[in-house]
Amino acid sequence: MGLKELVVLPVAKKWIAGPDLQSAVKDAQNANSRGIGVVVNFLGEDITDPAAMDAQVEEYLRLQQAMADSAVKGFVSVKLTQLGLGADEGGMKGRLERMIANAERLSQLLWIDMEGSAFTGKTVAAYLEAHQKHPGTGIAIQAYARRSEADVKAVLDAGGRIRLVKGAYKEPQDFVFPTKDDIRKNFDRLMVSLFESGDGFAIATHDSVLIDRAKALSDSSHASFRFEFLKGIRDELKDELVASGYEVVEYLPYGGNWWAYSKRRIAEHPSNVWLLVRSVV
Ligand SMILES: Cc1cc2nc3c(=O)[nH]c(=O)nc-3n(C[C@H](O)[C@H](O)[C@H](O)COP(=O)(O)OP(=O)(O)OC[C@H]3O[C@@H](n4cnc5c(N)ncnc54)[C@H](O)[C@@H]3O)c2cc1C
Repeated sequence: MGLKELVVLPVAKKWIAGPDLQSAVKDAQNANSRGIGVVVNFLGEDITDPAAMDAQVEEYLRLQQAMADSAVKGFVSVKLTQLGLGADEGGMKGRLERMIANAERLSQLLWIDMEGSAFTGKTVAAYLEAHQKHPGTGIAIQAYARRSEADVKAVLDAGGRIRLVKGAYKEPQDFVFPTKDDIRKNFDRLMVSLFESGDGFAIATHDSVLIDRAKALSDSSHASFRFEFLKGIRDELKDELVASGYEVVEYLPYGGNWWAYSKRRIAEHPSNVWLLVRSVV
């Protein structure tokens, strides 16, 4: 076992359902029993070997089927670089099509995560193309990105579904808004557009200011929406929102490729660095 496994894995486990599909389904069932829906992601990104991309698809097809067989309330969410966006764009489209077709067969939605800025334009374009044929698809949009106002408009104009997030990648200043306050303001602006002209969207943040604002906006909107959270973060708030009658969904990643995901979780909150330090002293 390397240093990463020894130091980080025990802490990372709170964000990850487990190593395999069975642990993901079990975690999903636990969430469902608390009245919480799930979005399940098989951990992986930046895949360059076509055989490995195909293997990701096979895993997702098994996951979709297992969720249907176990009557899990939830959907799958995929990163397009798992399917070849970075290295085999033509092949990626075919792999995505297989996943969407399977989701449709099982009456499930299919969500697409948003990745780093090198892939934003291509991810939005691939989503819009897929959505023309398959309305049961959704895409994450990052409020930290200056381009997102235009992306939200394009997706809403196409009748698409959005998961609004702040954004998790380290990006150059010309791509993102400079301060946390600017990002929160942009999240608020985009959220107003969603409540005005979107439907079936997700407000995916742990930020209480934005969650309270979404509650207020929902009072004067007929749009259907849900709050989405990451596994292992703000669990009490999830239960409070369910008890208040809001739809709540938890994002459940699983699988052996936990490092890149965990690095982003550690970087976004200082308390996690403290957890790591405490785990080794
Ligand atoms: C369902 C879901 C799906 C997502 N999908 C994507 C995606 O496709 N692409 C993408 O770039 N990003 C995605 N993200 C991540 C997102 O972009 C943010 O990085 C992450 O949610 C933290 O931002 P925040 O809105 O919670 O606000 P923050 O200001 O970061 O956090 C608000 C509060 O939440 C708590 N908190 C937040 N993060 C942590 C943490 N790691 N550990 C402990 N406490 C924490 C703290 O109390 C903090 O004060 C997703 C997030 C969610 C909830």
